[in-house]
Amino acid sequence: MNIGILGLGLIGGSLGFDLRSQGHYVIGVSRRSSTCETAIAMGCVDTAGIDINLFKTADIVFICTPIGMIVPKFAELITHLPETCIITDVGSVKAPVVEAMAPHWQNFIGGHPMAGTADSGIEAAQRNLFVDRPYVLTLTNTTPQSVVEVMAELVSQLGSKLYYSSPENHDLAVSWISHLPVFVSASLIAACMGEREGQVLELAQKLASSGFWDTSRVGGGNPELGVMMAQHNRQALLVSLQNYRQQLDETIDAIEQEDWQALEAKLTDTQKWRPLFVE
Ligand code: NAP
Repeated sequence: MNIGILGLGLIGGSLGFDLRSQGHYVIGVSRRSSTCETAIAMGCVDTAGIDINLFKTADIVFICTPIGMIVPKFAELITHLPETCIITDVGSVKAPVVEAMAPHWQNFIGGHPMAGTADSGIEAAQRNLFVDRPYVLTLTNTTPQSVVEVMAELVSQLGSKLYYSSPENHDLAVSWISHLPVFVSASLIAACMGEREGQVLELAQKLASSGFWDTSRVGGGNPELGVMMAQHNRQALLVSLQNYRQQLDETIDAIEQEDWQALEAKLTDTQKWRPLFVE
């Protein structure tokens, strides 16, 4: 297939690598010429440039820009593409994006490849980023079956685990397991930096090891992405954060009251529940 990628960054570049390795012809379009040149040199794309007309021969276009640019770029894209072209996006939030785009393009399907790193930009693109990771396709009443089939085949070629969901359920679910963790992890880092005793802070930074690495990773990522999550999945994120604050309050109460039984019961539950989320 001729596959277009709009927005050559971590996700767009990584998709380019893997789709090329499956024999597809990958056309990249990005904002900056320098990014396009880097993408060609890295081997993420067969050709690239800043002109959206490069997509005129594309069978499918993946919109991989930052979330806030997905809908404006879609509006521009549909004035240049033939009706047969499939459009999909990779945005981490789905309901507002799908609501804005699906009514305007028959062959549209929202998607979310759930893989990433702490880095961003074309230099961060890597091969096999999506292998064994979830890829959610968000269906609506109007999503054509033929489009679902094409996307399902591409997702399988990426080596991802395919899931289907409504856009709304996707956003609620990712709020719990993807967006809430970013803000929990960021708050952890910020709380540690609140240590006023310089020598203690310095020692803590030297002693930080695997536990801190695991729990701080997503809070130390791309700030732009975190702000986008909060802006675009605001309602679901607020519910998750309020629930989390309640959990913290319960933990503080138990420790203040030296209620070790309650604390142990909670930690026994969480030990039992963790495998329900991660193997
Ligand atoms: P990124 O590394 O910052 O890449 C985004 C790229 O989009 C930039 O490199 C930029 O290229 C390009 N771009 C920005 N504005 C543009 C415009 N107006 N026109 C054309 N290209 C433009 O971000 P990312 O992490 O790949 O995220 C991209 C999308 O993937 C987001 O919608 C995000 O929600 C979704 N996503 C991210 C992750 C993750 O963990 N990072 C995971 C799943 C999904 P230039 O260098 O040319 O400016």
